[in-house]
Amino acid sequence: MADLPPFTDTPMDKIPELHERVVRKFHTHTTRPLPYRLKQLRQLYWALKDEEPALTEACKLDLGKSAYETYLTEVGWVLNDILFMCKNLERFAKDEKAEDMDLTNSFMRPTIRKDPLGAVLIIGAYNFPMQLTLGPLVGALAAGCTAVIKPSENAPNAARIMQHIIQQSLDPDAYQVVQGGIPETTALLERKWDKIFYTGNGRVGTIIAKKAAETLTPVTLELGGKNPAIVTRNADPRLAARRLLWAKLVNVGQVCVSQNYIIVDRAILPAFLKQLEAAFAEFQPRGAQGNDDYGKIVNERQWQRLKDMLDSTSGKVLFGGKTDSETLFFEPTVVQVDDKDDPLLADESFGPLIPILPVDGVDEAIHTANAVDATPLGLYPFGSKAETDKILGQTRSGGASVNDGFFHASIPTLSFGGVGGSGQGSYRGKASFDTFSHRRSITTTPGWIEGMLSVRYPPYTKEKLKK
Ligand code: NAD
Repeated sequence: MADLPPFTDTPMDKIPELHERVVRKFHTHTTRPLPYRLKQLRQLYWALKDEEPALTEACKLDLGKSAYETYLTEVGWVLNDILFMCKNLERFAKDEKAEDMDLTNSFMRPTIRKDPLGAVLIIGAYNFPMQLTLGPLVGALAAGCTAVIKPSENAPNAARIMQHIIQQSLDPDAYQVVQGGIPETTALLERKWDKIFYTGNGRVGTIIAKKAAETLTPVTLELGGKNPAIVTRNADPRLAARRLLWAKLVNVGQVCVSQNYIIVDRAILPAFLKQLEAAFAEFQPRGAQGNDDYGKIVNERQWQRLKDMLDSTSGKVLFGGKTDSETLFFEPTVVQVDDKDDPLLADESFGPLIPILPVDGVDEAIHTANAVDATPLGLYPFGSKAETDKILGQTRSGGASVNDGFFHASIPTLSFGGVGGSGQGSYRGKASFDTFSHRRSITTTPGWIEGMLSVRYPPYTKEKLKK
């Protein structure tokens, strides 16, 4: 990493030029043939492989991530997505025939062709800087789009290495990186794109959607939410405690899909808390501080936001609570809260806060989850099959993992996305290809069929009506 230039914002006057370059390239149509797309994907794959040590170092610097987590959730994740895409691209890109055609229509060969949307803008978030920036890029490459990539400025080392990798491995006329924060992103949004793919918070998601609406630009918005976990009286308290604690330790809780709070049936609360304590002792036997497996909060602003949140709760801290502003350490902290209006539930914490809200029964759990956030990004019910079915049947969410914390999000072939306030559109697996493609319906009318078609031409005589 040391030999890379430091993180610097892209000069504002270069932004229109970079945009025009990728737009121009798209209109050469040279990004459309599959061999071109596969070449870009393969080159990106090998560049990521070559730069794995630097990528690991960048994640350590930006987020204190362990090498193990970086491989699982960043480098290995994107490599796997590329392999999957290379293996399946031909199948995804193939024309599709219309379903259930009658004989006459079948003569026109109704077909759906998969066209690239065009020149796209991808705006990444800091928490999984590679996964959330290069993951969408894999879809754009596969679909034959050109792109400008705007990594999060809040993970500047990851942004530097990603720029280096893209510059080294991809066609520079088709794929460019813009570095920077609000001014640079605002300048990018002034340009006309064929799609904007944004990952981040809902407030900025609204800014993006409004700006895109001015030019009817389609958007995919990957946003956050107040995700509930629900532990019913019939859940296995040990499994629920271990799995939900893991889901909050990953990336120090800076995970869009991790549970924001846990609704626990009072009947099982003591057993659940006991198991949570045991899981803490097992996963972090010497505590969280100084533990190489446990990272840090990304920056002082986010650390302070979390600290203010913790200070504002009227709940009771059961475990954790230690913080250190110097090292941006934030201990996983379990807080028992009394009601759904507690500040810890009112906002997405996006950190290692684990509020626990006791309820009486599944109906109250469902009612509470729907009242806190009717359309969260994830939902995690633990209990009997009948209970978890009932919970799924009476709630909505972008995705859900039954008897686990965010497992659904780790399946590379399962499309991932939000609903309502947690986002729109989806990606991963085939969905990554689809999100950057236009399904273009085409018919081809043969000349010999003119006799049959003459029935459609005016004048609409009585004889024609009889037919
Ligand atoms: P962030 O600070 O990295 O910002 C995300 C992007 O928005 C950055 O590239 C940033 O430059 C840009 N941005 C910031 N302000 C802007 C503005 N005014 N105009 C235009 N662009 C602007 O990340 P964040 O938003 O703090 O991320 C945390 C949020 O993102 C949480 O709500 C989390 O749940 C959500 N998230 C969602 C997903 C998902 O896949 N659904 C993944 C990660 C994070």
